[in-house]
Amino acid sequence: MMEFNPHSMPTKTGWIEVICGCMFSGKTEELIRRVRRAIIAKQNVKIFKPKIDNRYSANEIVSHSEQALPSQVVENVNEILEGAEDSYVIAIDEAQFFSNDLIDVCNKLADKGKRVIVAGLDQDYRGVPFEPMPNLLAVAEYITKTLAICVECGNPADKTQRKIHSGERVLVGAAESYEARCRKCHYIPDAE
Ligand code: ZN
Repeated sequence: MMEFNPHSMPTKTGWIEVICGCMFSGKTEELIRRVRRAIIAKQNVKIFKPKIDNRYSANEIVSHSEQALPSQVVENVNEILEGAEDSYVIAIDEAQFFSNDLIDVCNKLADKGKRVIVAGLDQDYRGVPFEPMPNLLAVAEYITKTLAICVECGNPADKTQRKIHSGERVLVGAAESYEARCRKCHYIPDAE
């Protein structure tokens, strides 16, 4: 696996970085960390997030540890393509809520020479790969998988355990509805 290394960034070309993992693994914190470093370097940064996610704040991205940065809320990926025009660094949070068209958009932006940083859940609450993340991982130059800690046994966790009964794939919520579990402790709750 090609680890992301900020000291050996390519020049005169764009690329795609994906930060993936379960909930509570620090994906958004890692995205915010990379964005802050780019801002300190006076690079033009634009952050996008899907409209579906309004659990903390409408116009900023906020990690579970409550670091915040201003972001543009978009309903579809074409708005990212249009809104990213003047920026060099494009950050996209909660990417699992976008359609598979996100792959094409990220490729186009990277082809234009932009640095594209995408964070999202790689699996849904059942442990099934969550589109468009699997396809995005395939085209990305750099992949970081963040692990949480299993609340049951303390092992490294990469699964999101849903604590309430629902068959809906998308059920926006935070600590009250989900927790991080390892492979051994994760189970699929009955849908009701
Ligand atoms: Zn466990």
